[in-house]
Amino acid sequence: MKNSMNAEIIAVGTELLLGQISNTNAQWLSEQLAHTGINVFHHAVVGDNLYRVEEIFSQAQNRSDVIIVTGGLGPTEDDMTREAFQRISGMELIEHQPTMDKITSYFTAANTVMTPNNRKQARVFKHAGVLENNAGMAPGMIVNHEEKIWIFLPGVPREMKHLAEKDVLPYLRKTAGTDGLIKSTVLKFSGIGESALEDSLSELIRSQSNPTIAPLAQNDGVVLRLTAKAGNAQEADQLLQNTKQTILQKVGGYFYGTDTDTIEGQIVSRLRHHGKKIAAAESLTGGMFTERLVSARGASEVLSGGIVSYHTDVKQEVLGVSSQTIEKHGTVSKECALEMARRVRELLNTSVGISFTGVAGPDGIEGKPAGTVYIALSDKDSDDQVELFTFQGSRNSIRERASKKGLEILFKHLK
Ligand code: ATP
Ligand code: MG
Repeated sequence: MKNSMNAEIIAVGTELLLGQISNTNAQWLSEQLAHTGINVFHHAVVGDNLYRVEEIFSQAQNRSDVIIVTGGLGPTEDDMTREAFQRISGMELIEHQPTMDKITSYFTAANTVMTPNNRKQARVFKHAGVLENNAGMAPGMIVNHEEKIWIFLPGVPREMKHLAEKDVLPYLRKTAGTDGLIKSTVLKFSGIGESALEDSLSELIRSQSNPTIAPLAQNDGVVLRLTAKAGNAQEADQLLQNTKQTILQKVGGYFYGTDTDTIEGQIVSRLRHHGKKIAAAESLTGGMFTERLVSARGASEVLSGGIVSYHTDVKQEVLGVSSQTIEKHGTVSKECALEMARRVRELLNTSVGISFTGVAGPDGIEGKPAGTVYIALSDKDSDDQVELFTFQGSRNSIRERASKKGLEILFKHLK
């Protein structure tokens, strides 16, 4: 077999094209193939249409070494993967007796009549390696056609994964040989935008190809994915480690973790490290910040609680923000934010208090437009701080951005 095989994943199903489901099969398979050291050069999605499936199959036959097809193996009229492949390969389909037995005994056991179309699922290509499906009816197949490897898997993700893990990946690992493997790691940053990060590293990103460095914007800030190719895992790890060090020398100040690390988790461990507890007073975020902190393991050791002081009365009567402050500056003000942070810290007897007050929108409040948000932090060991932000977006994205910004501020403060 060729030293470096390139693979293509074809997902068959009109639901995918209509946007009713997402192509998680291709995503999962790609990830697995990357770990196996096989390059995936194409993903294709095609509807349940015989001619278009055939067309995409011919294209794949020309451009890829390994073609993995998911979906369209079932019993119904719209399942036509076999027919399409038959049209490009001329291969004969035969009934696979063990599968047929399984289907008949299933219907007997369920005491229902088997409709004739169920026979379809038992048809396999004459020279195919048949992959027994212990999670469903239709078996998978591995077929060689004009020096290309074709792998057919059911569309149902659970069945697809089962066959991939049991048969396909071991087969490909063997066939591809020890041509190398791909390892990747994700570096996570907060408090710096994607373009600023990319700008600081542009030279490195451009000049370096192993590991490759790819910036991605995610919900939780910016991440860099480093992907290394090497002869073995140890070499790959070393390459990743070296590049990580180079990157951290430049932008280490914004770095908060790798792979599965979360900013909430890092905050919890820093609070624990400093022996500090925190409490939150939330107006427009309505508990979102506290909710995010609670999501991190170990939060109970460092988070006392939060007060959702949404209405002005609660800010005054429960938190104890002075009526003077509110009359003079309004609830959306730096003075109110500072008092909220200080008061919640005192009330819940913690060392740190954080507060959120602002306008989620869509309408303005107190003459301030939607997106105006004050976040204050009060730590009994340092000076209070408050910052004004102007977020864009819908009501809920403003609330989410404010909560996220609160996490960033807190993380930076604890550094
Ligand atoms: P079945 O025997 O159930 O008919 P099949 O091999 O014919 O299986 P499909 O009919 O194409 O496969 O898909 C079955 C179900 O699997 C779909 O309804 C969908 O929920 C899921 N599915 C199919 N393709 C994908 C995909 N690419 N990614 C994620 N889910 C998928
Ligand atoms: Mg089907």
